[in-house]
Amino acid sequence: MHLNIFERCGDLLYLLSYMQKIKQFLSDLSAPAKIVITTHMNPDADALGSSLGLCMILRNRGLDVVVVTPNDFPEFLKWMPQSNEVIIYEQTAELAQDKISQAQVICCLDFSDLKRVGELGVHVSNSPATKILIDHHRDPEKFASYCLWSTEAGATAELVFDLIAGLSWLDLIDESVANCLYAGIMTDTGGFRHPNTTQHIHEIVAKLIGMGANISLVSKFIYDTNSVDRLRLTGFSLLDRLVVLPEYNVAYIYLSQEDMRRFHVQTGDTEGLVNYALSIKDVTMAAIFKERRDMVKISFRSIGDFSVNDFARKNFDGGGHINAAGGISQFSLSDTIKKFEELLPKYKNELLSTQHA
Ligand code: 5GP
Ligand code: MN
Repeated sequence: MHLNIFERCGDLLYLLSYMQKIKQFLSDLSAPAKIVITTHMNPDADALGSSLGLCMILRNRGLDVVVVTPNDFPEFLKWMPQSNEVIIYEQTAELAQDKISQAQVICCLDFSDLKRVGELGVHVSNSPATKILIDHHRDPEKFASYCLWSTEAGATAELVFDLIAGLSWLDLIDESVANCLYAGIMTDTGGFRHPNTTQHIHEIVAKLIGMGANISLVSKFIYDTNSVDRLRLTGFSLLDRLVVLPEYNVAYIYLSQEDMRRFHVQTGDTEGLVNYALSIKDVTMAAIFKERRDMVKISFRSIGDFSVNDFARKNFDGGGHINAAGGISQFSLSDTIKKFEELLPKYKNELLSTQHA
């Protein structure tokens, strides 16, 4: 790495040309430029929080901005300011397509692989708009003209904050923007517990609190608004659907469609379940397998140097970060689990030698 071509912002190194070009491009944009901000399927707090945060800032600059998501987001994110204006492709595809076809700029936040936005990805890909990618996932696809990308960032919301700071627009961050960015950072760092929790992240959070972020309210909205069904699903999953394989330091949970019907599972209800499997002493890799109508969706988590990004990429058409990744399988639920278990001997040495502290 050649230090003089990188710009350091807190702990992060960005390619200097990236940060400078994107800053120049955004500061040159003037009303009424039409901008679409889009994010990945099953938006989480970082996806939605960074998108809405950036949206509000650009709207404050007088730009014509909409957020388009591939599908709906969970109830526990619906407190986010202006989330009621989000255009959900799965519900209003025509409106979403219109917005994309009129856009001069498309900002792609919290994903770097167009497959992550489903059908919407085709429209984004075909659009002649200038594309800006802001993301912290590994191995980005090269489809954008401008990239603000760093895997050292704990959250896309962190990158959005750095960008706003770089543009000297911090005075545009009000309580609403601060809450959205804080939510993204809080959740993507696992409540400031994952190794991506840096001094820089804490410095940003300190600034966000000064700008009005209400940290107790945001954590109440995100962590303490469970339905009884969701809690019972957690109990059921841990009692009846948790498999521990101590010979590999692996644990996983699986849920069939029938299980999910039984507990009236809503979007977001299974989020975080995989972390219970990872919390077991000595477990290096945890997974959750969720049966969908046409595939099995898998989430992987790991600790230390064991890369679930590599594991998901090689075996389950997925990816993500070193310690948190996802993937899919076209096999049945039981065949997917069988495939997973059959892969473990190959990874046994790595799984058993991973340092836990
Ligand atoms: P989660 O398990 O919480 O859905 O996702 C964990 C991480 O992996 C997130 O950063 C998410 O963006 C990424 N991820 C989840 N599913 C997939 C997938 O199917 N493909 C890729 N490339 N990344 C995924
Ligand atoms: Mn993220």
